[in-house]
Parts: sequence; structure tokens; C-alpha cells
Amino acid sequence: MNSQKLIKLHVGIDDTDSAEGMCTTYLTCIILKKLEEYNIKPMDFPRLIRLNPFARYKTRGNGALSFVLELESRSDVELVEKIVLDYVEKYAMFDGVNTNPGVVFYEGEITQAMRDYAINAIYSIYTIDYAEEFAHSIGARVHKFKKGRGIIGAIAAIGIELNDETFECLAYRIPENYGTKRQLDEESIFLMNEKTYPETFDNIDIEGNYAAIEPHTPCPVLYGIRGNTPSIVEEAHNIVKSYEQIEDYCIFRTNQHTDMHIQHGVKIKDMVNTGCYCFSCEVVEKPYDIEGGHVFFKVSDNTDIMECAAFEPTKSFRDIVRNLCVGDKLTIYGGLNDNHTFNIEKFKLNEIAPQYEYSNPICVCGKRMKSAGKDKGFKCPKCSRRLRDGKKIRKSIPRDLDIGFYEVPTEARRHLAKPIVRMKLDN
Ligand code: ATP
Repeated sequence: MNSQKLIKLHVGIDDTDSAEGMCTTYLTCIILKKLEEYNIKPMDFPRLIRLNPFARYKTRGNGALSFVLELESRSDVELVEKIVLDYVEKYAMFDGVNTNPGVVFYEGEITQAMRDYAINAIYSIYTIDYAEEFAHSIGARVHKFKKGRGIIGAIAAIGIELNDETFECLAYRIPENYGTKRQLDEESIFLMNEKTYPETFDNIDIEGNYAAIEPHTPCPVLYGIRGNTPSIVEEAHNIVKSYEQIEDYCIFRTNQHTDMHIQHGVKIKDMVNTGCYCFSCEVVEKPYDIEGGHVFFKVSDNTDIMECAAFEPTKSFRDIVRNLCVGDKLTIYGGLNDNHTFNIEKFKLNEIAPQYEYSNPICVCGKRMKSAGKDKGFKCPKCSRRLRDGKKIRKSIPRDLDIGFYEVPTEARRHLAKPIVRMKLDN
């Protein structure tokens, strides 16, 4: 038996891609493949961790990557670090103005301070200096390329603790096909969805009736399938047919669709821009449309008033929002953007405020009466009969909404937002 003490090495990588190409998940996948040549395998699935959705320099979904190895010797540690750094050097999109890769190596067990750092990288915004200082305080080795902003996410991806988790199977294209139309059999995607939903989710955009698993960027990803377990995403991957060659695929453990970004128990008066919250409130100003198809309305929780928005990309969700009325009681989930507008991801309608319309009474002759002047009651325009103490007739207006949850469609969903179909798992 080998009594030698193994070295636990955590590797974090972030910010290697740009809108023009690459994807840090792909880079992680090919690094792991290279390590396999040396018989070095990760202890668990690599992790794809989504951080603050409002981080200014994100390319798309603010994802950072990490994996853990158990190594036998210092020379193995050196070998791994060299391979990781060489791969980042070779494959990162250094031309991208906002591509500032960061790689972090950490040996040992994850501490509470690292878990706290990680959750706050989801709740708030850090500076590169703060991240670097923190890395030194835990004895991590930090490698910054260009500005090295990626170290912010790389440290968080190493330290995050997952209480809820999902998995994503990402299939990658061969480089010759980057930038070309993805050749997928759409029917097989619908079949996969039929067989695996709701254990997999966000495969189909119900509204648009099209496959939502393929990105529309020139990156190496052919498609990504999200689900609750590694086995279901792999099963789903095996059902999808591709007419182009798949270079490789990799399953990631993730915090996607867990609502990990949502902070509970914060009052409107204490909410800050770039924070994401869940709070109970009442509608105090009815929804209205602004140019561009965005729908705004105001709510209050008795500490302050918040402007909420369902933006144009949320499509038919806006029709639900348009139906809200003053007095409706809601629990809203979402985040505060830089303009201090709350972007709604989903809401629960808890109480529907009754709505009424008022009309003048009908005269005994059958004609609708008219006002006889302020405080003078009503007068019939046909038979001149008067009704001095008459009151307007109140009629209930039916509401086109039911108590319950409403969410934005798949295409508009943030990576961290928990779909309603997953919320049912909580009960
Ligand atoms: P993709 O989804 O394609 O992987 P991305 O949206 O993840 O791209 P990145 O290229 O990773 O974008 O860029 C995000 C940058 O923001 C990284 O440098 C990351 O370190 C940084 N970052 C992440 N979280 C925070 C935060 N809380 N505060 C400040 N910067 C952050």
C-alpha cells in the first residue's frame, strides 16, 4: 500500500475567452485530456461556476472553472502547473480587449475564508488587487496574464461550496468548424427533451419552438445540455445526433440554475446595484411600456420603492407583467442593474388585488343615468327622473392571472436563475 502523503492541488482558471472565440470550459477539457496522458485524473468532475451576473468585463455568463487533483510528488505539481500555464498561453484569446486570463493553484483543504470569498464573488464585485491580496493570504500561487482579472473568478471557482448543484454536458466542435453553422439534428434534440425533461431542462425554447442547447457564437461549444445529474446529461448527450464531428465532450459540476446569486431577507432600502435578491412587495404603480419594448412598474416593501423591469428579450413574460395591478402582492427574484432598476428573473404572485369598474345606475325606464352634477346624484336623460342618493354601480373586473410562479423564457434566463421546474425539487 502506498503510505506516501498525496498533495491535493486545486486549479482555477478564468477569463481566457472573448466574443471572437475560445471557451474556458474547452480549455479545461483539453488540459484534463493532456493530464490523462500522464495518468493524472481529476478527483471529481471539473466545476463550472457562475459568478456575479453584473460583472462588467464578462464575455457572456461570467463562468470560472476549477478542478482538483491528488498528486504524488512535487515534480507532478510542477508538471501540472507547467501544462496548465502552457495551455492558457497557447489557447487564450489574448487579442480580446477584455480578455485578461488568470490561473490560480492552491494546495490543501478549502477554508471558511475561501468559501466566504467565493460566495461574495457572486453577491458583489471585487477588484483584481483585492483578489490578489486574498490569494496571498491563503498561500495560493497566482498567475496573471495581461491584467490578470481572471484570478478573481479562478479563486472563487476553487473555493465555492455547492449546497445545490446541476451538471452540464458540453460537446465541442473540431477547430475546422469554428464559426460555421452548427450541424445538429433538431428532431433528435426534441426527442432528447421528450425523454429526459424535466431531469434535463432549458433544451427547447418553448416560445420559439427551437433548440436552445446550441450557442450562437464562434466558440468551440457545439452544444450544452443541462440537468440534475451527470448520468442524465450524458444520456441526453447520447440521444442528440450531430452531422458534424464532435472532438470531445466533458461533464461539469455547476452552480447553474440553483439561485445561488439570490440574497434573501434584504429590504429595498438596503439593496445595492449588482446585487441579486428575493423580496416580498406590493405593486404601487401599474406597468407601462417604454421605447424598445421594455415594461416597467414600481413596487414597495414599506422601506422604499423599487423600479422593476421586464426587458424586451423576456418576450411573452412581459404580457404577464403587463397584467399586474396596483395592490398585487408579489415575491420577486432578480438583480439590480447599474441604473438601479430591478431585472426580474421570476416572481410569485401571492395575492391578487380585486379590480373594479364603476358605472352610473340604470333608470327604471331602462336608460343609463347621467351625473346630475357634483354631489347631486344622477338624472335620467330620457325620462328626467332623479336619483339624489344614488351610488355608482361597482363591477368586478376578472383578472387574467392566477396565484403562483411566473418566469422569463429559456432564452432570456440567466445562468444562475433556478427554473420553476427545479424549484419543485425544493418541496
Ligand atoms: P464565458 O461565459 O464565455 O466563459 P464569461 O462571461 O465567463 O465568459 P470571462 O471571460 O470569464 O467572461 O470574464 C469575466 C471576468 O470577470 C473574469 O475576469 C472574472 O475573474 C471577473 N469576475 C468574476 N466575478 C467577478 C466579481 N464578482 N467581481 C469582479 N470581477 C469578477
